[in-house]
Amino acid sequence: MSKYIFVTGGVLSGLGKGIAAASIGRLLESHGFKITLQKFDPYLNVDPGTMNPYQHGEVYVTDDGAETDLDLGHYERFTSARMTKYHNWTAGKIYDMIIRKERRGEYLGKTVQVIPQVTDEIKNAFRAVSSDNDVVICEIGGTVGDIESLPFLEATRQMRLTLGGDNVIFVHLTLVPYMTTSGELKTKPTQHTVKELRAIGIQPDILLCRTDRYLTQEMKNKISLFTNVPVEAVITAKDVDNIYEVPLIYAHEGLDQIIIKHLGLESTECRLGSWKSLVNRIRHPKGEVDIALVGKYAGLKDSYLSLKQALDHGGIANRVKVNISWIEAEDLEKGKIEKILRDKDGVLVPGGFGVRGIEGKIRAATFARENKIPYFGICLGMECATIEYARNIAGLKGANSTEFDENAAHKIFFKWRDLKGIQELGGNMRLGQYLCRIEKDSAAYRAYGAVEIYERHRHRYEFNPEYEKPLAEAGLFISGKNPDYGLVEIVEIKDHPWFLGCQFHPEFKSRPLKPHPLFKAFIGASHAHRRERRKD
Ligand code: GLN
Repeated sequence: MSKYIFVTGGVLSGLGKGIAAASIGRLLESHGFKITLQKFDPYLNVDPGTMNPYQHGEVYVTDDGAETDLDLGHYERFTSARMTKYHNWTAGKIYDMIIRKERRGEYLGKTVQVIPQVTDEIKNAFRAVSSDNDVVICEIGGTVGDIESLPFLEATRQMRLTLGGDNVIFVHLTLVPYMTTSGELKTKPTQHTVKELRAIGIQPDILLCRTDRYLTQEMKNKISLFTNVPVEAVITAKDVDNIYEVPLIYAHEGLDQIIIKHLGLESTECRLGSWKSLVNRIRHPKGEVDIALVGKYAGLKDSYLSLKQALDHGGIANRVKVNISWIEAEDLEKGKIEKILRDKDGVLVPGGFGVRGIEGKIRAATFARENKIPYFGICLGMECATIEYARNIAGLKGANSTEFDENAAHKIFFKWRDLKGIQELGGNMRLGQYLCRIEKDSAAYRAYGAVEIYERHRHRYEFNPEYEKPLAEAGLFISGKNPDYGLVEIVEIKDHPWFLGCQFHPEFKSRPLKPHPLFKAFIGASHAHRRERRKD
């Protein structure tokens, strides 16, 4: 039977519960345990697929095509657990299941209530991924005290009641702020959030105290006294420069040993060597590169979270620090392109939806092609690069995607479900993992060193097969295709240091200990371009 760790958060949102849960996972894996993680979001949307990324952060896509919360990205980056649709649950999804059952008459006339029907369904979800895992780490979204998280917390309380304290523990992440005016750390918010938890029957076993400095023993004693948490389980979760340091901070505070003791697990040793050398490599880069990221930001960089991580991984692989200039695509439409992109070492146009900023992104691709600056186009960025090639090299005036111009003279991209023969895939997005077969003698092959690769998708529009021939004849190199549907997956320009666009999202599969080949190659090419330029 699996054991459970429930991770909750208090005081305010944004304390980093996802990274805390992922770091616990990393520590337990380092001890040789088989673990997995799950995220429970108390909001009523069925999944985050339709939620605004500028409010909610990126939508993370799993191999099986689930559109999930961005914390699942942390789980996959920090641990070897693989995420599926069973690893992210929302109140909307739970209620949707219950209401469907109720309509089918499966409750046999009973009154359907939060307790027990909703809590039972949540408990089924906790168990949905437990097979052959030693420990399941379940992160409960939201902040303790929110009305909507109550059924989830109640379900965790019931789990402890039935499975016992050896099998279920509660970890609570809280804030211990430093008041500059009085020059002291404050424990009151922590006292209050634990009081809130205890009022609903949950006594935390471990407190992770987010602070900007180490807690003194006296501080820990005080927190312990007021919260009824043993003093050795009051852990300093100190701020770090890089998220990958978090597991090391926790290990330093002895968190892994406390969890092992609580759950009665048997561990021989903790192997954190490769993680330590990773952190060391991040701390001591041997150079740097400046990458222009041309997108739509509206202030929330979490909407490109995996991308930022993947770029960092590409940097780790090349031992360079990656500096990102976040560039508003619309600014490039206003004629300032030369000034903005001139001294960048690489240009990346990421995924996106909607027409705003498109012409700026297309111009960025033109600029990178003409000036031989490494260019990496992801999904929408690949579409922009192809459109720019069609317009400016293949002479197809008015080339566009029907997403931006329904009546384009040359519909280079159009809705994939309109393609004959693939309607049976259903839905209106191509989601999740698909096979891509790569041509040898391509930048893609040099990066992957493999002919067959699998990558994750999340898009509606596809390369129109009618334009494959004219664009190839004009010199666009189609270096990767999906053999099942004949869909174009990768395009390149050969007479260029590194110019590649892919229809899929490689950022979802990049890991700090296993940087994605395309990000490694792109950062490598950008670094080479920088050195070349400095020589002139
Ligand atoms: N909007 C484009 C499409 O749907 C690109 C999507 C993306 O970049 N994820 O095809």
